[in-house]
Amino acid sequence: MATSPSYPTSFLSGSKHIVVCGGGVIGACTAYFLSQKPQTSVTVVEKSSPACAASGKAGGFLALDWCDGGPMSSLARASFKLHKSLSDKFNGEEVYGYRAVTTLSVPVLSERVASSSGSSLRGSNLLPDWVDGETARPAKQIGTTETTAQVHPRLFTQTLLSASEAKVIKGEVETIIVENGHATGVVLKGNKEVIPADAVVLALGPWSSRLSLISELFSVSGLKAHSIVLRPAEPDRITPHALFLSYQPAPGAKMLDPEVYPRPTGEVYICGMSKDAEVPEDPESIIGETESIEMLHKIAGTVSSHLKRDKVAEVIAEQACFLPCTDDGLPVIGELPGVKNCYVATGHSCWGILNGPATGASLAELILEGKSTTVDLKPFTPARFVKRRTRLGI
Ligand SMILES: Cc1cc2nc3c(=O)[nH]c(=O)nc-3n(C[C@H](O)[C@H](O)[C@H](O)COP(=O)(O)OP(=O)(O)OC[C@H]3O[C@@H](n4cnc5c(N)ncnc54)[C@H](O)[C@@H]3O)c2cc1C
Repeated sequence: MATSPSYPTSFLSGSKHIVVCGGGVIGACTAYFLSQKPQTSVTVVEKSSPACAASGKAGGFLALDWCDGGPMSSLARASFKLHKSLSDKFNGEEVYGYRAVTTLSVPVLSERVASSSGSSLRGSNLLPDWVDGETARPAKQIGTTETTAQVHPRLFTQTLLSASEAKVIKGEVETIIVENGHATGVVLKGNKEVIPADAVVLALGPWSSRLSLISELFSVSGLKAHSIVLRPAEPDRITPHALFLSYQPAPGAKMLDPEVYPRPTGEVYICGMSKDAEVPEDPESIIGETESIEMLHKIAGTVSSHLKRDKVAEVIAEQACFLPCTDDGLPVIGELPGVKNCYVATGHSCWGILNGPATGASLAELILEGKSTTVDLKPFTPARFVKRRTRLGI
């Protein structure tokens, strides 16, 4: 059989070298599941540091059945189960804060809305004691310890990446080398040398569209979201309850829907306040806007006296990051049409931490065995954009 002399030697020897571009949760999970297959070596290229972006600053909330009724259902269900087995394998409870949680939906009135409505009905017996804000209203349970859980996203990503034993290179992927319709290597910015590859995985989150191979087919935009991390003075009082709030800052104002995740470390993570914004080149330069951060502090202090900044809760982080979003709201997982051995995994929006494991496991099967058995990847194929572009005459 004739082979191109420029293919890496591993291709000829039967073992495979796969280059994963991007060290977020999707890249880390893909590297881990690839590494579990025989005769495979993995290199991860990350332009900043692993989990520096959304994968380190997310909430880490996991839900079994919240994606039911749509194409993401099987991905989410498989991933929720994989999270449990990964936690068993890596002692996730100790190592990266995996635990089951009870999840509540809690309407919270701002003081202005409460005084204008004259309503004074506080809480319900579903609310844990630490949710002691006078304006919290009766809660509804929306997840049980069987159906909802959490991880610390940065620690989870780092654990999987280190378990993959991948070689991690710090560098910015500039181009994918394509020869005779096959991806054969990766070139880094400022470096002429090619990193040879039998297959390339592009897991670049909201930076995906910066590679022309991707932007020629589909776009990935970034939605900026803010978060704060607090350490209450009495962490033992905070129970494992995840809260999905609805909060109206002023009468007639738009409802906000922040989320509150106490962590086993004693810290409490609160996120929300999303908006369209330009994704900056450097992930480390992403900072939160003062107004949004202040609003999260205000909401935290309204929900619980334990979360009032400075007086009783130390501020650990005030930050922002970008959700990677596609035009049709679905992740893109699969081989790029017209470029053999070049795979993409992105667009996980607000469920990337949940769906990282099943994405990585399915992609590893597709790359090395030709077909995914963990999850049917058809709904996520990049080829759907070819049909769309043809339909639109682009
Ligand atoms: C506030 C907030 C809360 C969230 N909460 C949850 C949650 O509770 N549960 C959940 O399931 N999901 C949650 N998410 C969503 C989740 O964080 C994302 O879906 C997920 O992190 C995306 O992972 P990723 O690996 O695709 O992208 P990223 O984490 O953005 O990683 C992409 C990586 O690629 C690198 N990179 C970019 N360009 C290059 C290049 N040219 N060369 C080399 N490297 C490059 C970047 O430096 C970055 O490290 C949340 C997101 C936000 C913003």
